[in-house]
Amino acid sequence: MGPSLRLPFLETFLGAEADEGEWILHFHCFLLRDRQGHVTLVDTGIGPTSTWAPAPGALLSELAATGLAPGDVDTVIITHLHSDHFGGTIADGQPVFANARHVVQRAEIEATSVLDPVRELLDVVDGDAEVAPGVVVRLTPGHTPGHQSVEVGDFTMIGDVLHHPVQLADPTIRYVYDGDADLAAKTRLDLVGRLRAEGRLLGTSHFPEPFVELG
Ligand SMILES: [Zn+2]
Repeated sequence: MGPSLRLPFLETFLGAEADEGEWILHFHCFLLRDRQGHVTLVDTGIGPTSTWAPAPGALLSELAATGLAPGDVDTVIITHLHSDHFGGTIADGQPVFANARHVVQRAEIEATSVLDPVRELLDVVDGDAEVAPGVVVRLTPGHTPGHQSVEVGDFTMIGDVLHHPVQLADPTIRYVYDGDADLAAKTRLDLVGRLRAEGRLLGTSHFPEPFVELG
């Protein structure tokens, strides 16, 4: 279990002020390890020193529990540059995953310098690309300009295309913190349609359950 944060549900999804209903925001990262030993990490979470979430990130201890050290990670994919997704990338001004290429979309990195401490490790991509053996990133913009989702086999890690299971039931339900709400809505509709048509397994960043089957 990772850290989580409580937010008002109606206000966050419908923009309506209300005291009722609470949404517990979870923060999930994903570790992929193939048979050849290539290790890919998708997002680095809120980080161990976050002050805005009620509990620090637990990525490194959870990584250690799998028998891996930060230096064993070959590829880090950052879905987008919000601090709950890249917060564990840098510690004391130094890269945490010093042997890893760090994959980010050009449209995402152009507007910010937050990854400067890992600039020597950056692998900047434009749109869809295979970035590790069998691991494909796809540009899914709207929440942020260069938001990307990640696919391997029949598994898709959706980042912040969806924030709550209610958006799987109705992808037209918006999230107030999407940067470009119209584009985010279009991306969400397109992606949910394709995920359902293909019966894919979802990896979610913020749902209570990290894995959701659509098959
Ligand atoms: Zn997020």
